[in-house]
Order: sequence, then structure tokens, then C-alpha cells
Amino acid sequence: MGRRGVSPATVRAAGPHLTAAGSGVPAAEPDPLPERSAAAFPLKIGILGGTFDPPHLGHLWLATLAADALGLDRVLLMPAARPPHKSGRQITNAADRVLMARLAISGDPLLEISLVEMERPGPSYTVESIEALRERHGAETRLFLLMASDSLAQIDTWREPDRLLELAEWAVGPRPGTPMPDPDTLRARFGPAAERIHLLAGPALELSGTEIRQRVAAGRTIRYLVPRAVEELIRERGLYRRSARA
Ligand code: ATP
Repeated sequence: MGRRGVSPATVRAAGPHLTAAGSGVPAAEPDPLPERSAAAFPLKIGILGGTFDPPHLGHLWLATLAADALGLDRVLLMPAARPPHKSGRQITNAADRVLMARLAISGDPLLEISLVEMERPGPSYTVESIEALRERHGAETRLFLLMASDSLAQIDTWREPDRLLELAEWAVGPRPGTPMPDPDTLRARFGPAAERIHLLAGPALELSGTEIRQRVAAGRTIRYLVPRAVEELIRERGLYRRSARA
């Protein structure tokens, strides 16, 4: 058995995860996708930031829905090191959240992990992460920031939302509890740039990290709410057993 009782098979399934010196957080990996002519055929990359504490089927569905609707070549799940919006509660350590995210995507060629927020000290402001990804992928690549309707409703509490919309198009998926935005309202707020906001139609999954943590703390099942390997890691490492806080 590996660290804290996690089986080597489970950890191996998460793929290679080199550790950045002393941080306990896996280091960045080379981009596995082959280069292709961006000018002739611009690459479309989706980016889904989040706490992923834990990653669940709502995240994976949003990524898949956006890729299907917009023809994305891949979607990066980008775990936040220190989410500015969630400073009020204890967050699972970064290494375990990254490992869960790796387990969640394993076997899906569409999905990758980006550690861009883990490589930077301080709060994880999305605008800075997208700037870094824009630099990394070049001006021709189309970047799409993925979020659900609840995040869009709070976008004016984020750092520099207008700049964020200049740096990347947005793809907004449905989430129970917050209606999809009205295009007129978006035009009134963002002007012509509102055309860069894509509204995704499809089923909405009523799931959240909060709900899953609370279920684990209460001893209830989370099977089929998270990928099986994530469920196993949560059990093996004893995550969330005493943390029913929202
Ligand atoms: P928590 O309950 O811990 O606050 P969360 O489940 O809302 O977490 P985050 O990791 O913070 O998840 O969310 C990251 C992104 O994923 C956000 O843009 C959020 O809108 C989106 N998202 C989260 N859950 C769902 C869901 N069930 N359906 C669609 N999108 C979701």
C-alpha cells in the first residue's frame, strides 16, 4: 500500500505525477498533444477552473457538454491553489485535490489537468491564469473559459471580468438553482464583447462539492456522483469524514 493506505494501483491510474521540490504538489508536465498548424486550423481549448474538492460528475459533464457544443479539442481542468472565493472554509490539500482530478479524468482523451494555478504563489485569480495560458498557447489558439450559470451570476465579484472576456471566450452551462443568463442582460453588461459568451443547452446536474463532502461526513454513499476511482481515494484517505462544513 502507498501513502496513507492508497493502493499503488489507484495512484498509478492517475498517471505520472512528478512532485515539485518540497511543495507536495505535482509538477507541470509537458504538453502531450502534438503541435498542429494553428493558423490553418486554430486549436480550441476549454479551461474549467475550480476547487475540485472533490471533482464530481457535474464538472465532467460541463466539460463534455462544452466540448460537444463548441468542438473543443481538449478541456483543461485547472485546480485552484488558493481559491479567493472560498477562504471561509478548510480546503483539502492541493496534492490530494490534484490527484483526485487526475483520477477523475483518467481514460478520457478529451480531458487534461493544468497546474498553472499550482505553480503560482498567492490567491488563484482566474484572469492571471488565463493570461499565463494565453502566453503558453499563443494568440491563434481559441481559449474558452468554462463555467456554470452560478459562476457567471457572480462574475462581477471576480478580478477584471472584462479583461477576462478579452483573453478568452466564455462557455456557460446550466446549473440547478441559477437560471441561464438572458442575452440582453449580457449585452447590456458587456457590450459587443457579449458575443464572446456562449450559452450551452443541455441537462443540468444537481451536484456540488459541498453536497458530496456533507454526504461523506454523514456516512452516506456518493457512488455514481463522482468517478469510481475518486470515490475509492476519498475512502482510502479518509477525506471529508469530519468536514461537513460548506
Ligand atoms: P463547492 O460546493 O465546494 O463550492 P462546486 O461543486 O461548486 O464546489 P467548484 O469546483 O468550485 O465546484 O466549481 C468549479 C466550476 O464548476 C464552477 O464554474 C461551477 O459553476 C462548475 N460546476 C460545479 N458543479 C457543477 C454542476 N453540478 N454542473 C455544472 N457545473 C458545475
